[in-house]
Amino acid sequence: MTDVLATLRHRLPAPAFAGPVHHVYVHVPFCRAKCDYCDFASAAVGDAPDGALLDGFVGGVAAEWERERAAHDVRRLHTLYLGGGTPSLLGPDRLERLLELFRPFLTSAAEVTVEANPEDVDEAFAAWAAAAPRARGRGSACGLRVSLGAQSFAPALREALGRRARADPAAAFGRLRRAGVANLSLDLIQGIPGQAAADLEADIAAVLGLRPAHISWYELSLAAGTPLAARSARSRDEDEGAAFYRRVVRALSRAGYDWYEVSNFALPGRKARHNLAYWRARPYLGLGPGAVSTVGARRWTNVAGTAAWLRATSAGARPPREVEDLGAATRARERLLLAARCGDPVPLPELTAILDLEAAGSLAAAGLVSLHSGTIRVTRKGRYVAGAVCVRLFRG
Ligand code: SF4
Repeated sequence: MTDVLATLRHRLPAPAFAGPVHHVYVHVPFCRAKCDYCDFASAAVGDAPDGALLDGFVGGVAAEWERERAAHDVRRLHTLYLGGGTPSLLGPDRLERLLELFRPFLTSAAEVTVEANPEDVDEAFAAWAAAAPRARGRGSACGLRVSLGAQSFAPALREALGRRARADPAAAFGRLRRAGVANLSLDLIQGIPGQAAADLEADIAAVLGLRPAHISWYELSLAAGTPLAARSARSRDEDEGAAFYRRVVRALSRAGYDWYEVSNFALPGRKARHNLAYWRARPYLGLGPGAVSTVGARRWTNVAGTAAWLRATSAGARPPREVEDLGAATRARERLLLAARCGDPVPLPELTAILDLEAAGSLAAAGLVSLHSGTIRVTRKGRYVAGAVCVRLFRG
């Protein structure tokens, strides 16, 4: 093994997060109401949000983008992701103003994603989403990608999650598709308190009936301090959790979806390129309150409070942020953790500082990783327990 490391050292690729920036994330920190399981940086603004606050946010993103663009080696953007929070509550006009900031920098094949909640998807939103890419300029061949937060098709399970939105995700999905939005992703959750195997089957059938281009299907995590964690007396049966996970993977794989990441599935050609950039440890900029950026050996997180972020950006200043310098070992550890999610191979020389070679050997014997041509890769079998596999691979 040591010989392999020595011979491969000369073709060591650039370290994680190095190089020019081609990916931007904008965090929209508003939701109509706070869901009971959510610990994301988002504030409840009700059903009639203050227009001045939302306009101020768009202005703040414009100022922050100008500043960050000048401060970093930003090239043509391959992906842009408007996430949150609930970007769709900004409405078509403000979303259009946001996209306008980035249009001159997008490549003609750039992937542009907007997250939406079903209650915001009316005819006006659907018409805007279908037309938005045409306004991207000559040569643009790509439609807008909309990621719709369904979570479950059963109203009782959405209620168990403390989602106050009553809108039917299937109706919102149909509206977008009829308007001409082809690149649609659905977000689902399994492991919802009270969810039985039959409920999971019903959600699987509903998803496959709609046949979105992309599906993200997460296991519910009970973040400490959330109302749902407080009222869920016991943690979930681990065997049941594993069985639900395997059932989702099997059903979607059989239906032609590529299980290309721990929680993500795509029809051919429809993998989420923005998220792949994260998993491949590419540098990215995050704009907005609470947004995270990682460029080179530095990661920073904007202040989560919208008021503090707005005060700074509207004064032309950099928002308060927490900065972390990523040492070589941290970057190597992250590289392995991220690659493990997709089963991507990592050249062994990138991992010399952190890899337990003995553990790698026994995990390979168990079929959880594969060692091949000087690389290590977490197998499909290992992907079910990718986090635990990585912990065993880390030295010391
Ligand atoms: S809509 Fe999403 S971001 Fe907003 S509170 Fe619910 S889970 Fe959190």
